[in-house]
Amino acid sequence: MALGLPSRLPATPAIGELVRGGAPTFSFEFFPPKTPEGERLLWRAIRELESLRPSFVSITYGAGGTTRDTTVAVTERVATETTLLPMAHLTAVNHSVAELRNVIGRLAGAGIRNVLAVRGDPPGDPMGEWVEHPSGLRYAEDLVRLVKEAGDFSVGVAAFPYKHPRSADVETDTAHFVRKCQSGADFAITQMFFDADDYLRLRDRVVAAGGDTPIVPGVMPVTRMATIERSSQLSGAPFPPALLARFEAVAGDEASVRELGIETCADMCARLLAEGVPGIHFITLNRSTATREVWQLLAPSDVAAAA
Ligand code: FAD
Repeated sequence: MALGLPSRLPATPAIGELVRGGAPTFSFEFFPPKTPEGERLLWRAIRELESLRPSFVSITYGAGGTTRDTTVAVTERVATETTLLPMAHLTAVNHSVAELRNVIGRLAGAGIRNVLAVRGDPPGDPMGEWVEHPSGLRYAEDLVRLVKEAGDFSVGVAAFPYKHPRSADVETDTAHFVRKCQSGADFAITQMFFDADDYLRLRDRVVAAGGDTPIVPGVMPVTRMATIERSSQLSGAPFPPALLARFEAVAGDEASVRELGIETCADMCARLLAEGVPGIHFITLNRSTATREVWQLLAPSDVAAAA
């Protein structure tokens, strides 16, 4: 059932098509700000990264379903006030189907055609029991269907190189991922990882399970030792031990940690591009400098592909 709103959508490029287009896409992820200072930082980062002419940018949906309005507002502002192509993340947390349809309608009304449909985590404890809204959805695949039914949206989903922390094993995780893609996803973006082989293993097992959805690697450079601890929680896997040893060797010197983080991230991106990935999605944490430095270290031909 189409909502009848997306009349402006066809003029907007579909990220699913860009990702399948041959040249690798380069994209940046931001989160919605919670304070005026946060908003200032976000818009500074957006303006600084705009000059790199990324293929698209994405705006996350607050954990636990918070920042719904800010996500829609920031995404709309990016669409209307910048030259960037925005994608809104959307989660099913704490939302009835009617509320989700309302958010999807608002996105469509703002001319936003690209949506990353993720289930989200329970508010408070991300690993707590998932309790679906009484009139809501159970899995991301249901959200993919809902968005697709609402209009001509290009829909992305989440992929997990180390399996989703809730999945019993890698095989079940892969089967659920392929099923989610087959429910209508046009592309996927991974959780962050720090070893290219972990991405390549995911890609191989998805292909072996019959999946053909392009999977864009999600990357984030280490800029402080604290990033390593946090990334382990987010990625659901320990930081690669050999790489950790390199960071620990320079842990006392903040500038060296940062330099190593930029260099190793750029090396990993170069390897991924050589392996033919459909694009690179940078998690920016609303800062532009580290992402720009990685970008500059990538081979000129790779960077030119996005321009
Ligand atoms: P699902 O695909 O529904 O999977 C959840 C679990 O259920 C998995 O274990 C899966 O194997 C299992 N499963 C799936 N389908 C079935 C089925 N049919 N039967 C049985 N089991 C099944 N969170 C936010 O709050 N806001 C964001 O903006 C956001 N953006 C993200 C962007 C990316 C690129 C990534 C990788 C994650 C993002 N997340 C975000 C986090 C995400 O919401 C959580 O990781 C969430 O726990 C899982 O979401 P999912 O879409 O993978 O869920």
